[in-house]
Parts: sequence; C-alpha cells; structure tokens
Amino acid sequence: MTLDAIVVGLGALGSAAARALARAGARVLGLEQFRLGHDRGASHDHARIIRRSYHTPAYVRLAGLAYRAWADLEREAGERLVVSTGGLDLFPPAAAIPADAYLASLDACGVPYEWLDADEVLRRWPVFRLEPGTGALWQADGGIVPAARGTELLQRLAVHHGATLLEQTPVTEVRDLGHAVEVGNGDRTWRAARLLLCADAWTNELLAPLGARLPLVVTQEQFGYFQPADPGAFAVGRFPVWIWMDDPSFYGFPVWPGAALKAAQDVGGREVTARSRGFDPDPAASERLARFLRGRLPGALGVPVSTRTCLYTLTPDRDLVLGPLSGHDRVLVALGAAHGFKFAPLLGQLLADLALRGGTDLDLAPFDPGRVALTAPTVEPHYLV
Ligand SMILES: Cc1cc2nc3c(=O)[nH]c(=O)nc-3n(C[C@H](O)[C@H](O)[C@H](O)COP(=O)(O)OP(=O)(O)OC[C@H]3O[C@@H](n4cnc5c(N)ncnc54)[C@H](O)[C@@H]3O)c2cc1C
Repeated sequence: MTLDAIVVGLGALGSAAARALARAGARVLGLEQFRLGHDRGASHDHARIIRRSYHTPAYVRLAGLAYRAWADLEREAGERLVVSTGGLDLFPPAAAIPADAYLASLDACGVPYEWLDADEVLRRWPVFRLEPGTGALWQADGGIVPAARGTELLQRLAVHHGATLLEQTPVTEVRDLGHAVEVGNGDRTWRAARLLLCADAWTNELLAPLGARLPLVVTQEQFGYFQPADPGAFAVGRFPVWIWMDDPSFYGFPVWPGAALKAAQDVGGREVTARSRGFDPDPAASERLARFLRGRLPGALGVPVSTRTCLYTLTPDRDLVLGPLSGHDRVLVALGAAHGFKFAPLLGQLLADLALRGGTDLDLAPFDPGRVALTAPTVEPHYLV
C-alpha cells in the first residue's frame, strides 16, 4: 500500500504533523529513530514560552494562529495545556535586540501590550534588579506550553486518528522517485505520496541523499532549575515568563510545574552536531546564567536542582523552515529554528495542508527552504531577534 505521507522525526513538529494528517483522514506513517519522548533533541523537558510579542508582523500573526491551534488541541484533548502567566520582554538601555520592531509589529496587528519603565516593573515584580532606562514590554497573553507532555499528547492523538508511529526506527535511505517518495532503514522500505522531514538537528543527514543541504548551525544549549527561597514570589499568577533582550540574552519561567523555576541563556552554547554533542552541562555556561541571575533576579537562584542539555538548530536568520524542498516537490521540510515549539500544533496543520492540498491560506514565503538566507553563498547569521 502506498501511504499518503511519511513523517520522519517525531519530536513536537513531526508529531503535530502526524496528528494533523491522520485527523484529515490521510494514511500516515511516523518514524522516529529513538524512543518516543527521548531527550536527545529539542522537545523534551517541561516548559516552553508561548508569546505574541515578536519582531515582525508576520510572526505576530503566526503567533495568533498558534494560540488558536493550541486551543483547538486543548478542545480535542479535553486538557488545559497553555498556562497563562503574562510575558515580560526586558530591554536594558541600548539593548542589542531593539524594542521598536516588537512594538511596531504588535501595533500593526492590533495586539494589546503595555510599555513599562523600570520603576513600574519593580513595582509589579520587586524581585528584579534593573538599572534606570530599562524598558519592558508586557503582553498579558504570554505563557507556558508543555513540551514533553504536549509532544506525547500529539503522538497519542495521531495514533487515535489512525497514524502508525514506529519508534527506534532510524531512516537511513531517502529516495525521490518522482511519482512517489521512498525511505528505508536497511531492512525495510516504505513508500508514500509525500515525505515530511521533521528532523531538526538531523535535517541535513536526511537531505544529503537528495543532494540538498541547509546552512544550519546546531548548538548544545542548557537550562537550569532552581528552587527559590521564596517560591511564592515566583509562583504562576505572581511572576511571568520573561526574556532579557540583550546580548547575551536570557529567559525564564515562574515556578512550574513542580517546586522549581527554569532559566537559561538563549544561544549560549557551543556548536556541535547531533552526533558529537554531549549531555553534561558546561560549567562556564552555568556560571554565566548564575551571574546574570545574581545581578538581575537574585531571588530566583535559590537551591540549584538540575541542569540539562538540549539542541538548538539555527537558521542564519533564525526564521522557521516550512515548505517543499527545491527540486523535490514531494518532500516537505519543517524546522523550528530554536523557537518553534509554540508553533508546533499550527505547523502540523500547515504541513498537513501542504501535503494534502498542495498549499495553505498563509504566505509561507518567509519560511521557504529556498529563501535567500538559506541559499546565498554567504549570509551573516543573526540569531538574536
Ligand atoms: C532548551 C530549549 C529551549 C527552547 N525554548 C523554546 C521556547 O521557550 N519556546 C518555543 O517556542 N520554542 C523553544 N525551543 C525550540 C523548540 O523546542 C524546538 O523548535 C522544537 O521542539 C523542535 O521540534 P522538532 O520536532 O523539530 O525537533 P526534535 O524534538 O529534535 O525532533 C526531531 C526528531 O527527529 C528525529 N530524527 C532525526 N533524524 C531521524 C532519522 N533519520 N530517522 C528517524 N528519526 C529521526 C529525532 O530523533 C528527533 O526525535 C527551545 C528549544 C530548546 C532546545
């Protein structure tokens, strides 16, 4: 039997695509090289930030659709998934990430927000230490989406709708036959009308047999959990998700889902490959985070609970990848560019539309695998946006 679609990679994006495809009635096979729910990629652990505040109107609109896709997932699952905490983007004086583009993009899309000066931030959240001249963008819809739990739910729903998901099945062969696509693992081959590559840090391994390559950089990142001395000051309802919009950039969460809060540096890790990476935290990176928290959010440091690693897969413009591979119309590539979890249920729907209808209602040109930022011989990467 020829399948309608094969999804390679069952992290958040591939699982979302498998769910959306199967829900639309397609015959779907999902293949994952490790155990479902493993911690070697980007979709494990508890929390990811969801936010409307973004630097372009296109992303603000995409984020609006992402909230709707999470609401749809909540309805289907009968579970609450999005934890609303409010979101605070903090811009110190002469911040490396300018606030203007964020404010203009929210204005252009009619999304409400407040611009707060340092005194007002300290009045609302006295746990911060800020210098005068710091400004903050408060957007009430900012919050948390569950990473591992959300991914597992997407897999469960995919199976419920009829998808077959095979774990511990690494795809080692990819062939575009013109009239169909074929993948194999040495022992078996599978054929489908469409192939969806949702392999994040492994993407180029799967593109290689097709003669394609994207200019991706994989970094080994880490995040720390800390038990604050005064957990009440950092509880959901009292304390928001936050991003420090400078270079280096940091971000963090309230105490959730247990008794500890999570904080991390954004794009602070060394370049690795999915195969060369390690799992031990880098003490220098831990110290960078601790130094930042000591200076700006000292009450958050508390008792260190754990530090874990994960992979960022970065495009030079930090934009998502979503669309058909040039010269291989049957092959779709999806990649979250290390900020894609919030979009996962939406990207799953868009991928299903691309695979089954050949298009979507959205302009996906900024995310095209063939865009200039991914094809020009030299593009200076800028990851902090
Ligand atoms: C520490 C950290 C913090 C983040 N914070 C946020 C945040 O706050 N908000 C946000 O929106 N996003 C955030 N992100 C980004 C987001 O989590 C990722 O963009 C998203 O989870 C990527 O999902 P994925 O399915 O593409 O990748 P992955 O979860 O890595 O899944 C790819 C899968 O493909 C499988 N695979 C690869 N090759 C093969 C093969 N040959 N055969 C079979 N299977 C294969 C892999 O084993 C893997 O399971 C963060 C990421 C990290 C790492």
